[in-house]
Amino acid sequence: MNALQGAPLLALRDVRKSFGTGVDRKVVLDGVDLDVAEGACVVVVGSSGSGKSTLLRVVDLLEEVDDGQVLLDGEDVADPWVDADAVRARLAMVFQQYNLFPHLRVLDNVTLAPRVVHKVPRAEAEAAALEMLERVGLADKARAYPDQLSGGQQQRAAIARALVNGPELLLLDEVTSALDPELVGEVLDLLLSLRSEGVAGRPTTMLVATHEMGFAREVADEVVFLHAGRVHERGTPDQVLRDPRQERTREFLRRLR
Ligand code: ADP
Ligand code: MG
Repeated sequence: MNALQGAPLLALRDVRKSFGTGVDRKVVLDGVDLDVAEGACVVVVGSSGSGKSTLLRVVDLLEEVDDGQVLLDGEDVADPWVDADAVRARLAMVFQQYNLFPHLRVLDNVTLAPRVVHKVPRAEAEAAALEMLERVGLADKARAYPDQLSGGQQQRAAIARALVNGPELLLLDEVTSALDPELVGEVLDLLLSLRSEGVAGRPTTMLVATHEMGFAREVADEVVFLHAGRVHERGTPDQVLRDPRQERTREFLRRLR
């Protein structure tokens, strides 16, 4: 269950990714190494444009890497021969924009992937979805449409949708950035409870990109500071956020204040 016992659940090894060609080529991930042990929460921080979303998208196989390895349980999923759907079934990603389907009720948003992708019978999928909606505090909104929910409720529904298939790793990309400030707390509280209580008694393994330093301090086992596609500093939240060693990290933290 920790990094000392066997391989981490997720390991990035010298991951490189650029966009564009010739003079327009832009290196976005410049040799990133990163480990997420099972049950752990790793939080990636860094300025806008530092490569956080690309990092998560590479793990979710939404972007191909140019070089390096993305090891899930020791298997290199960046290999083009890998069954991408099988890999994605083990992961779940939640985005800044909650991306609920507006024409589907909350319950149907949550059951869609289990029913269509995993061929779970409707009754079974709905029972699991209701349980997950209960877990995120939205049991009473199952029959509502997304536009009848607040932004915080929509994001919690998106998290329920991400969790319903029982992913091994939850990828969260700035999930509170689009929310009105007064709605951020309810989503962060949910994520904190996913860390402390988990789902079905299992702590949720998470790789998180966020601007919420308070959240990073509370949930992260490790904070990784990304700048221009490189990891400049990593360590416990206390070390990186309170007592950073690198000038770049200090500068980043100063600008947040
Ligand atoms: P962050 O999430 O930290 O803000 P991103 O990973 O979104 O950073 O972006 C890092 C850099 O990569 C930015 O300069 C962005 O413009 C560039 N980028 C991201 N996706 C693409 C793409 N599909 N095509 C070209 N450039 C991209
Ligand atoms: Mg981003």
